Amino acid sequence: MNQNIRVRFAPSPTGPLHIGGLRTALFNYLFAKKSGGTFILRIEDTDQTRFVKGAEDYIIKSLEWSGLIPDEGPRQGGGFGPYRQSERKSQYKKYAMQLLESGDAYYAFDTPGELDQIRKEHDSRGETFVYDARIRESLKNSLTMEPQAVEELIAAGTPYVIRFRFEPNREIEMHDMVRGEVVVNSSTLDDKILFKSDGMPTYHLANVVDDNLMAISHVIRGEEWLPSLPLHISLYRAFGWEHLMPGFAHLPLILKPTGKGKLSKRDGEKGGFPVFPLEWKDPASGEISPGYREEGYLPEACNNLLALLGWNPGTEQELFSMDELISEFQLEKVGRSGSRFDPEKSKWFNHQHIQLMEDEKLLPAFHTILKANGVSVENSRLAMLVPIIKPRINFFHQVWEESWFFFKAPETYDTGVIKKRWKEDTPDKMQQLAEALEQCEPFTPESVEKLVKDTIASKEWGMGAIMNAWRLLLVGAAKGPGLFDLAAFLGRDEVIGRMKKGIGEITR
Ligand code: GLU
Repeated sequence: MNQNIRVRFAPSPTGPLHIGGLRTALFNYLFAKKSGGTFILRIEDTDQTRFVKGAEDYIIKSLEWSGLIPDEGPRQGGGFGPYRQSERKSQYKKYAMQLLESGDAYYAFDTPGELDQIRKEHDSRGETFVYDARIRESLKNSLTMEPQAVEELIAAGTPYVIRFRFEPNREIEMHDMVRGEVVVNSSTLDDKILFKSDGMPTYHLANVVDDNLMAISHVIRGEEWLPSLPLHISLYRAFGWEHLMPGFAHLPLILKPTGKGKLSKRDGEKGGFPVFPLEWKDPASGEISPGYREEGYLPEACNNLLALLGWNPGTEQELFSMDELISEFQLEKVGRSGSRFDPEKSKWFNHQHIQLMEDEKLLPAFHTILKANGVSVENSRLAMLVPIIKPRINFFHQVWEESWFFFKAPETYDTGVIKKRWKEDTPDKMQQLAEALEQCEPFTPESVEKLVKDTIASKEWGMGAIMNAWRLLLVGAAKGPGLFDLAAFLGRDEVIGRMKKGIGEITR
């Protein structure tokens, strides 16, 4: 266990976790596990106006489904709790006060109405209003007011905010593990609000304070937080924590399938693919968004496909188990540019991960699906079926459509196939094939194959024509797995029965 590596996934419970968020959790998890470090879940719920009922539970269940179990978190506890910011509320004010005392922050009393007015005046001049070093000297704050007046306003219960005070025209140098060196001039930044008179910190203050109190060694998060980095780094410096500053890594965006812009919920709706790990029912509108779990994805496949959205292993390898991801993952191999989400490739990952599962492990899932369709089969027969069907499915819910004809004779015969494949002499040939099959002993895939091929050869029939017609009789359509496997599974009586029934019905 490496006690020095401590990373956190810090979602705000403002709605369901998008797969971009899940990828952030995954990269944190992989980074922690690779080094024997600690993976922490911290719920950032200080903004009560954006709170959504059920979102925290959803986040925790999504992590559980994905196997990304936190070492410390609201459910697990740990030595740095509580892990919900609303429960840490009482701690933040003293940090805001510390910054006021050191001169790194100031009280501002401008009302929303006053700020709106100034914003409008700026707009009318074609300028953008930012509360920054240039303008703060002309506004209502503790930098422009007498200390006595400030105290009186606070004592009278006047609403205020505490803002960070950026020194103008300073180069803020930052290191990002994905992007390298980044420099920003402080004059381009606004004096962000850190604390409000309702006693609540904003995201920035709570986030930095908690990262410090929780001894976070690396902050791995989405690129949308990169613009906040100069403020966060400045906060570390202002608190005198520069030597304790975590490493920062900002992950590139996950892009729409077209490659243009950030992947959104709308893209999922348009393209018919989920962008959430689990199904989500919006508590306000009742609207249901599909989830990877409900669509039939394996968590292993989901982790694999998410890992490759942004991380490049540097080899041709695309399929990774969780253990492989943990041992191969490196933050240094995360790219800077966005990664295009490919819905078709996602299906491929699921297909591949189903193939990686041992047949025996698939028996219960097959059992359940067949049972739901009124079929009960003993394990020995199911064990024959699994290797035949497994290569043909991307999702378990396809098992029935790919295998129903192993258990039921077709009731209809595809008319398109009949037109194309059922010639005048076909019934007679099928009759002869049925008679030959009567003699086939044992009735295994190999012996059936030999007999059918020998019969075709000795009668000088065309292989394709016979196989297509035979398939039509056994399956009712031009689909399904190898016929010799199917025939052996069905057994002689069923095969011959289906052939006779089909010949009668099609020829009628
Ligand atoms: N609460 C922020 C979010 O919802 C956390 C950002 C961070 O990891 O610093 O994404």
